[in-house]
Amino acid sequence: MSKMPAVVQFSLAKNSVELREVPVPTIGDRDVLLRVRGVGVCGSDVHQWHGSQSWSVRTPVVLGHEFCGVVTAVGKDVTGFAEGDRVVSETAAEIDPDSPMTRQGLYNLDMKRRGFGYDLDGAMAEYVRVPARLLHRVPATVSDEIAAMTEPCCVAYQATVVNARIRPGDLVVVIGPGPIGLLCAHMARLGGAGKVVLVGVTRDRGRLDVGLKFGATHAADVQKDDVGKLITDLGDGLGADVIIDAAGASASLRSALEWVRPAGQIAKVGWGPQPLDFSIDLLVRKAVTLQGSFSHNWPVWERVLHMLGSGQLDPRPLLTRVARLPDWRPCFEGMHEGGIIKAVLTP
Ligand SMILES: [Zn+2]
Repeated sequence: MSKMPAVVQFSLAKNSVELREVPVPTIGDRDVLLRVRGVGVCGSDVHQWHGSQSWSVRTPVVLGHEFCGVVTAVGKDVTGFAEGDRVVSETAAEIDPDSPMTRQGLYNLDMKRRGFGYDLDGAMAEYVRVPARLLHRVPATVSDEIAAMTEPCCVAYQATVVNARIRPGDLVVVIGPGPIGLLCAHMARLGGAGKVVLVGVTRDRGRLDVGLKFGATHAADVQKDDVGKLITDLGDGLGADVIIDAAGASASLRSALEWVRPAGQIAKVGWGPQPLDFSIDLLVRKAVTLQGSFSHNWPVWERVLHMLGSGQLDPRPLLTRVARLPDWRPCFEGMHEGGIIKAVLTP
């Protein structure tokens, strides 16, 4: 059996990720084998490297769920895709086809869903096995590296467009200037927001500056600036129409509840396992809509790929580093420390 290099998480302990030789995957009748052209490093990969993830991981597992590749083999029951097709893949690697959520097209919310890079082997390798139902074609104008960023763009589209309701002229606040927050700020502007305030902490300065060139009209540092006053001054004094919470700590909900206007909306896409220790009575007092956002589904992928193809969505300002697979570690470190916004590995 032939082998390939892969970035593998081999245990749940801290720092249990390394480059290993693993077998090239075999495919089933409904799968394709992809030669990986680009795979994005996600904050979740960095968490798994640190052993700080709040989701279950089956080890050993090849990391990587944001990827683009070329079809090199097709299972006998696959129709619609052939060798040589350049594609991206959705992330719900396994779903229950009969669950009520799947039957209504919301397989992203199927509670039995299993994903690449934590339950099943992902794409930080030369090859990855992908069920054909997950595939989407990549427009010819989109490079491999940018195609590998389709997934985070879909997360942002789902949070900002599907799960938030932004109207022209709205004052929108995005908390957390990681890749998802930056893409949400950009998407909010595309969706008609009048002003977009991107909020981070002092060590996020570089990312806030990128955000100002990428859709945000204002940037604020919660550790230095009076963000509440800024939001009051920018709008009509009542607060933000929509808050998109893309921070990795759930305590940000407290700020969101303060900054949102009465009858406004909070869309929460950032994960944080920490329990909360404050009252959410403001949610009631202001009659705020609190909306979670998780993952994405087929129509979102098609729409985002169309936007990437036309150039309406161009995430290049976020792509700080492209590196080969053996250089995974400096990419993970750079994303953790904030010097790299998004790294893409090219196996
Ligand atoms: Zn991700």
